[in-house]
Amino acid sequence: MKPAHPHTQAAQQRLRQELPFEDSQDFDDVRRGFIATLPDAHTLTDAGDVAWTMREHGFLQGSAPDTVNPSLWRMAQLNAVHGLFKVCEGIYQVRGFSLANVTFVEGDTGLIVVDPLTYVEHARAALQLYQAHRGKRPVRAIIYTHSHRDHYGGAAGILSLEQVRAQGVRVMAPQGFMQEAFSETILAGVPMRRRSLFQFGTTLPAGPKGHVDSGLGKAVGRGRDGLIPPTETVTRTGERTVIDGVEIVFQLTPGAEAPAEMNLYFPQRRALNLAENVCHTLHNLCPLRGAKTRDALAWSRYLDEALHDYGAQVDVVLAQHHWPVWGQERIQTFVAGQRDMYRYLHDQTLRLMSRGLTASEIGERLMLPNRLSRQWFARGYYGAVVHNVAAIYAHYMGPYDGNPAHLNPLPPEAAGARYVEYMGGAQAMLARARQDFEAGQFRWVVEVMKHLIFAQPTLTAARELSADAMEQLGYQAESATWRNAYLQAAKELRQPHRGGTHQTLPISADMVMLLPLGSFLEFLGIRVQGEQVQHLSARINWTLVEEDGGTQSQRIHLSHGALNHLPGLHPADQTDVALTTTRAQMALMAQGPAQMLQALDAGELQVQGPSDVLRALVKSLDQFDPMFNVVEP
Ligand SMILES: [Zn+2]
Repeated sequence: MKPAHPHTQAAQQRLRQELPFEDSQDFDDVRRGFIATLPDAHTLTDAGDVAWTMREHGFLQGSAPDTVNPSLWRMAQLNAVHGLFKVCEGIYQVRGFSLANVTFVEGDTGLIVVDPLTYVEHARAALQLYQAHRGKRPVRAIIYTHSHRDHYGGAAGILSLEQVRAQGVRVMAPQGFMQEAFSETILAGVPMRRRSLFQFGTTLPAGPKGHVDSGLGKAVGRGRDGLIPPTETVTRTGERTVIDGVEIVFQLTPGAEAPAEMNLYFPQRRALNLAENVCHTLHNLCPLRGAKTRDALAWSRYLDEALHDYGAQVDVVLAQHHWPVWGQERIQTFVAGQRDMYRYLHDQTLRLMSRGLTASEIGERLMLPNRLSRQWFARGYYGAVVHNVAAIYAHYMGPYDGNPAHLNPLPPEAAGARYVEYMGGAQAMLARARQDFEAGQFRWVVEVMKHLIFAQPTLTAARELSADAMEQLGYQAESATWRNAYLQAAKELRQPHRGGTHQTLPISADMVMLLPLGSFLEFLGIRVQGEQVQHLSARINWTLVEEDGGTQSQRIHLSHGALNHLPGLHPADQTDVALTTTRAQMALMAQGPAQMLQALDAGELQVQGPSDVLRALVKSLDQFDPMFNVVEP
């Protein structure tokens, strides 16, 4: 890890002068209502590993070093504050114990838990902190605001599934919650996890030249998954419920920050929980890990609706990341500003698209207007204007920019070899790129070195120079996710990790126990190596027998190497094979083809008809390397 280049030092200095560092309201708000915390919020797993800690981020004191964007440094300090906080009468939050916040709403006799964090250990620690200072109250309800894992994964740390069932605890979620929660983690789970390493910088050492923050919170942490499926679904805006004397009005916001999400209005408390639809940052319209692009127009409209319907009747706006905002005037400024930044980016991107500009051209030109961009909550600590412009472009137009020169480009290795040849060879490229590095042209250096690395991946000089430029880009980035991505790239270029282990990346057994059979078949379908089974045509009936004796069936049609499925059963006379499994067998099968074949061979699966086709299908299932290469071929 190298020091800040003079061009990086100069860029940081410019920001120190341009941004309103004298406005320190957020530092008051982030501590307002503080009750207590644990030292460093240090939390262990049952096995004694660190599930969560702020210990390594103790360096975030004083003013920013030149290796960290000063605006990001400010956010990293705010996100280092942790503990139990009183939001208003009857509403408390534990913040800084996980990436997200958990909100505790006190009812007449018990407790409503909103968003039980990422892991069981995080949720348990937060609940214990709450109970130590507010007493033990029975949990009456768990509410998930949306389908992202940092908001539901720790539910079993609040109550076990058995307790939820035995005590009749209400578990509420917005419409589409389970489907969206599965779709993100299962279908694109492998590449998303790999890219998450870049987004969150999970393996970067903490420090002024390494990990400082994640923008929405400090880090991801680790622990055990413990989703408890919802018992109730909220299906429309304006729906009301009363839980333990607490009245809640729901506003559904699908397609904004998450495909299934909702805001919660507490009229008796004059409080509005805007889930993750507002934060003290410009959020992203597509995370660096990858996702279906989010709808900036819908997002801004939901915030407009929230402001109109509830905004004038509340004294506090809280959210499931960052700290609350109190007082009418500041609430209006905050929510309207958040609304306007998404609307502005949306409308201006569409306007410039209509003038024929492509995403990279718009990203280079478009900035939020000064009156917005000087508000701290509109800075891009998690999202970034450039990346959001690209997401808006893709949302409407897809990945192709319309120029047929980009219709069928050579892939990186083939293109890299030609670029190197055209540019006069590796040494000529390195010599020019070193001059550009000294001139601070870091974006261009990583572009040129990309071609050289994909042509000659073992050329250390190219890897080193690219890593040095990536690092300076990381030091300058205001967005924590950009910083993490650049620094992760630098790390992998300097110490090439060796992938190729071809371990299967199983979905967790807990997840399989909840998965609809149709979703499990989609999980299998994306693993089929199509060419190997393209000659097979088969109709398979698959019946899943649940623990309580209930069943679900899917009629599978294997055709042209594609695994189609529909609910129901093929008629017996048109069926090639019929398979009956239990949940436990399904969990075992999720581990990989070897386990499935073993179960078949041992006669553990109930198969009617010739099993050859089943065997061929299982043999064709692919295995994935969870650490595939990204910055090199
Ligand atoms: Zn979140």
